[in-house]
Amino acid sequence: MATVPFIFPSFILLLLLTLASLTTQSKPNVNPFGFLKSLEGCRKGQNVDGLHHLKRYLAKFGYLDNHPVSENKVTTTMTLNKDAQLFDESLEEAIRTYQKNYKLNVTGHLDAATVEQMTKPRCGSPDIINGRNTMQKDKTTSSYKSRKSLYGTSLYAYKGQMWPSSEYQLTYQIQSGTLVKGAENMRSVVADALNKWAQYSPFTFQEVVEGSQSNLIFGFAEGEHGDGQPFDGPGGVLGHSFYPTDGRSHYDATENWSDDPGLYEMDLNSVVLHEIGHLLGLGHSQDQNAVMFPTIGQGMRKRELQQDDVEGIQALYETT
Ligand code: ZN
Ligand code: CA
Ligand code: ZN
Repeated sequence: MATVPFIFPSFILLLLLTLASLTTQSKPNVNPFGFLKSLEGCRKGQNVDGLHHLKRYLAKFGYLDNHPVSENKVTTTMTLNKDAQLFDESLEEAIRTYQKNYKLNVTGHLDAATVEQMTKPRCGSPDIINGRNTMQKDKTTSSYKSRKSLYGTSLYAYKGQMWPSSEYQLTYQIQSGTLVKGAENMRSVVADALNKWAQYSPFTFQEVVEGSQSNLIFGFAEGEHGDGQPFDGPGGVLGHSFYPTDGRSHYDATENWSDDPGLYEMDLNSVVLHEIGHLLGLGHSQDQNAVMFPTIGQGMRKRELQQDDVEGIQALYETT
């Protein structure tokens, strides 16, 4: 009888420890963009340890031309050039542009609101492509009426990055060998998302046998996967896609994907719907309700095309 009081608390302790470890496992892993938090508050003129990570982040999404260091070379600060940690004019300008794109206060320094936006999970496709900011509407093209005025200059259209009218009947395939936990229903998720875009565009989509030729190809990948844009583990970049007529759409295999997401899971349906926008030629939108807005929170669902998305695809392909 005397041992009972000892066994009982031990059992409770064990149970609590087990529960604690289960809870820990279901929580998100380290955020690849989490380094930004330690840089909060930095501004022009300062020399800050780790600032090259911010520069690399901004370069990755098109806001800075020059990588302070090449992606695969940095091991210590010794290998950085002397200006890599300096908050210079061009970094301030890049942050200002980022703040305009995300409708934040344009302060030019790394304030708390900017850090909060930058650390959200996002699409890996850049906001600025070859110097062209896809998130800012051209002031001379306030309407979407004429493709002539839009082609190559609009928010959405980008010269040479749309499907020619001879290729509106697109075929697609899904790389089933790469499917991951939570993405078991990828086929129906993709079919459903393609249908939503088809309703507002001249496209038809037909699935073809895996391994055959197709216009579009969907697959999951981990880390470096052959296109020079390595994935970064759980959080950070969720996926990326190439503009027409490339057709590749890649998803980070390490995310907590789900087609019915809980608090710490990423909604596969929302991200696939977004990525298809790129496959068809759309850039990122500044409208945070739009499917083509670059970031999405854990557990958040954006499964319906919004007015901004519909106007974009219709402007690009001149359908009404
Ligand atoms: Zn995107
Ligand atoms: Ca990731
Ligand atoms: Zn890729």
